[in-house]
Amino acid sequence: MAEYKGILVFGELADGKLASITTELLGCGRKLADELKEGLSCVLAGDKVGEASKEAIAFGADKVHVVEHPALKEYQADSHMQVAEKMARDISPRAILIGQTSIGRDLAPRLAFRLATSVTTDCLNLSIDPATELLVQTRPVYGGNAQAVFTGDSKPQVVTVRVKAMSPLERDASRKGEVIPAKIDIDTSRVRTKILETVKEEAVGIKLEDAPVIVSGGRGVGGPQPFQTILKQLADLLHGAVGASRPPADNGWVPEGLHIGLTGKIVAPDIYIAVAISGASQHTAGCSGSKHIIAINKDPEANIFREAEFGVVGKYEEVLPAFIGKLKELLAA
Ligand SMILES: Cc1cc2nc3c(=O)[nH]c(=O)nc-3n(C[C@H](O)[C@H](O)[C@H](O)COP(=O)(O)OP(=O)(O)OC[C@H]3O[C@@H](n4cnc5c(N)ncnc54)[C@H](O)[C@@H]3O)c2cc1C
Repeated sequence: MAEYKGILVFGELADGKLASITTELLGCGRKLADELKEGLSCVLAGDKVGEASKEAIAFGADKVHVVEHPALKEYQADSHMQVAEKMARDISPRAILIGQTSIGRDLAPRLAFRLATSVTTDCLNLSIDPATELLVQTRPVYGGNAQAVFTGDSKPQVVTVRVKAMSPLERDASRKGEVIPAKIDIDTSRVRTKILETVKEEAVGIKLEDAPVIVSGGRGVGGPQPFQTILKQLADLLHGAVGASRPPADNGWVPEGLHIGLTGKIVAPDIYIAVAISGASQHTAGCSGSKHIIAINKDPEANIFREAEFGVVGKYEEVLPAFIGKLKELLAA
């Protein structure tokens, strides 16, 4: 790779459509490419990419490289790595942006190793240093208690970006770009694992990641019942979803999929209501991107009040019924 130019996004597809992380990466990639006055490319790999390639242009890409092959139907490191490595070498970008998703966490370090470069994972912010034209990367350190800013001169610079950390551009169907089919002979003899079955998680109501309002309960709620009654009642009234800190999931009070934080889901709703959650950094790592955080906790010293815009000191058993009653009154008016 002699000359490194432009920004490359490795996109993900979800049910044949552009995954939301891909639109977020394209929004960020567009900004970086504009600062460099260079192009933004996107690689989409799957058994059928279809209209997703045009969507990638509508969300900011200049060039979309489409790789279609039956072996790319589902993510498998051994097949997708062959595509990622070949496309990275052919396109030779300055920087490669990948989502901090289960796929990205698997792909990015492998890719960086193959390209003999470094990787910075879980970035929250990216910019270009005008003096060096290198990518400046901000990521959490010490379990989310601090943020560090990194850069490095090994190229291409490979980064993974946290879900919801970046905003997509407004979709613009009139944007012009190029869809380039790329033919890659995937060596299927190198694919060492086989997907036998895919089981979809059953989601009732609004998906946590898409909910505009999340009512999240912590260990302090005391058991499974409040999640099914008072927290759900509030979430339903606000057309939101119920979430949790890790202890309720570990205790089996709620399904594992509702757990928010460093080791759980990353959410960024308009309103996040933290009920009886102390606000450990491993929890706030998953919700600090929320527009407004409201905390209800009986301990005035609880860390969550440092994150919250509005706080109520009190027992949730007393605060929530009063809050719900007032809300009902306002909604009926
Ligand atoms: C490597 C690692 C990864 C982790 N990942 C995560 C993660 O992804 N997500 C996560 O959440 N945690 C994670 N944790 C755990 C984290 O460190 C905390 O232990 C956890 O977030 C605490 O959960 P909590 O706030 O619900 O419980 P607690 O810290 O026990 O807090 C309970 C709170 O409830 C309040 N309370 C009690 N009763 C009432 C009442 N009646 N009314 C109002 N308030 C009340 C208390 O004052 C207290 O503040 C991780 C830990 C490690 C080491």
